Amino acid sequence: MPESRQTFTFQAEARQLLDLMIHSVYSNPDIFLRELVSNASDALDKLRFEALTNESLSGLTGDLHIQIATVPADRTLAISDNGIGMNRDELVEFIGTIARSGTKEYVKLLREKGSGSLPEELIGQFGIGFYSSFMVAGRVTIVTRRAGEEKAWKWESPGDGTYTLEEDARQEQGTTVTLFLKPKEEEGSFRDYSDPEIIREIIRRYSDFVAWPIRMKDENGAEAALNSMKALWTRPESEITEEEHKEFYRHITHDWNKPARMIFFKAEGGMEFRALLYVPSKAPLDMFIRDMARGIQLYIRRIFIMDDCRDIVPEYLRFLRGLVDSEDLPLNISREMLQQSRQVETIRKSVTRKVLDSLASMLKDTREAYVSFWQEFGKVLKEGLFSDARNRERILEVALFETTGPDGLATLDEYVGRMPGEQDEIYYVTAPTLTVGKNSPHLEAFASKGREVLILADPVDEIWTPAVTEYKGKKFTSVARGLVDLDESGKSGAENEKPSDEGLDALLKYLGKTLEDEVKEVRISGRLKASPSCLVGEDFDLSPQMEALLRAAGQDVLKVRRNLEINPSHPLVGKLRKIYEEEPSDPRVARFARILFGLAALSEGGRIDDPTAFSREVADLLAE
Ligand code: ADP
Repeated sequence: MPESRQTFTFQAEARQLLDLMIHSVYSNPDIFLRELVSNASDALDKLRFEALTNESLSGLTGDLHIQIATVPADRTLAISDNGIGMNRDELVEFIGTIARSGTKEYVKLLREKGSGSLPEELIGQFGIGFYSSFMVAGRVTIVTRRAGEEKAWKWESPGDGTYTLEEDARQEQGTTVTLFLKPKEEEGSFRDYSDPEIIREIIRRYSDFVAWPIRMKDENGAEAALNSMKALWTRPESEITEEEHKEFYRHITHDWNKPARMIFFKAEGGMEFRALLYVPSKAPLDMFIRDMARGIQLYIRRIFIMDDCRDIVPEYLRFLRGLVDSEDLPLNISREMLQQSRQVETIRKSVTRKVLDSLASMLKDTREAYVSFWQEFGKVLKEGLFSDARNRERILEVALFETTGPDGLATLDEYVGRMPGEQDEIYYVTAPTLTVGKNSPHLEAFASKGREVLILADPVDEIWTPAVTEYKGKKFTSVARGLVDLDESGKSGAENEKPSDEGLDALLKYLGKTLEDEVKEVRISGRLKASPSCLVGEDFDLSPQMEALLRAAGQDVLKVRRNLEINPSHPLVGKLRKIYEEEPSDPRVARFARILFGLAALSEGGRIDDPTAFSREVADLLAE
């Protein structure tokens, strides 16, 4: 008995997305066809790939193709492929739900903002290609049989949030998507997608390079392929137009934005391969989700092998899209073999090198474009500073930084070029946000001496700064660590600043005792000008942001006790000194100590253990 018809509802997010899709206005509805052809092409790729390792499927790959058929009288358009197909579970999972968490989050956001429509360039980023059929169709069916499986299925939906599933008699493996086009009068500005001429034109424009024949019968019943099938990356670079790149990029990425940069090269000699890579102009929604797809496709001698091949690019270049086509790897390579392959490692090194070179040229030739690139992907690229020591200097060369100097982002070379003669270190401060960094009390003396400081406010900065000690012979120095002496005397800060002042010495000792649970030492600061106090680590202490990051990641971290530096020329410290000198045991002295400590923690964007007690103490003090 074939399973009878059952009705299902889409997963909530999928329903919402579908709803947005149907009610949005599109400047270019033609692209639904590109999405469906792209899915069909992927399905053929997958079948050929599975057949490489699965004997029982190898008889099915003789005539892989895509077929398009229209019936103008019925207003239907059908796109068929004899590719991998889907079984019942896959239909439910792939079509009825949205798996990607980034997409889910975004849909939620759009709904909360009450936005009724979907920004067009985002549709592609979602990977909801199939749903775009509902832009032009009132009802859609999918009839599909998974290659090598017994049963075929028919899925059908009027786009209202429900769909039905029932068994079908389809014999051939693969999938047919049939669109029941909206009535002509409802189409508005849409073209008539049941007109074969219009279909031909759209296929030629968007899908010419699809590697499988896309066939359609002409008026006389004769069948012809509509596309040239020429793999774009096998053609000479000079012949490929920008338009073709744009379409190809969209085909492989489903991202409708224009790529920011194209990197196309051929390696010969040791390993022979071609790489056609693109830097997207916008970061995908799931950039920082751990297991996000890496997006590089692997081809071997023009044959598609796999999507998101992780071994070809290092993780810190995971924003790249595109493909590598190798001449040397064996066709039956598995993911496990890839990981251990020396040849793949050679490809990875060479790709990494080329990409970094290309970014360097981009920085040199098109600064503005590079700055946008950096704002999207700089955080990711910086991961390479600790994960790829070999290319560290190259990455530093193309890294951009906020600084306390002139407006705009600076390279390290620019920073070093602006250093005054007596400065021989690269100063930086890490902070949870740019604003906290810019206003950090640690910078005060540097600012007053006209010393520029890099402001590092990305979480990844906490991770690479301990690992990277210098750039072209210039040491990286945190302004929040160690002693600071910016006077030209050359004597160490401690000797220079330490007063031969016994009263102050005694006070510092007393404060140190009072705060011994919180700080290592209380001392006079060489870096403060306007603020009363700040906290300073030793060279190898965890920074407060790093401490917070580790805690957030669920690690037990020992509390780091840093040094409290105070500014003797600040009136608050002056007042404290007076009270202390009049009566060392005055309870206000301890209160001042706690307040100086709390203020220091707050000013670096940190956390105080008991904020209520702190604000009460400040309030009481103000009242007095
Ligand atoms: P995307 O293609 O971006 O993943 P779609 O909504 O277009 O998003 O498709 C969702 C999934 O459904 C695909 O990833 C694929 O697994 C499956 N699918 C879609 N069309 C086909 C097809 N013609 N043959 C086999 N599987 C398909």
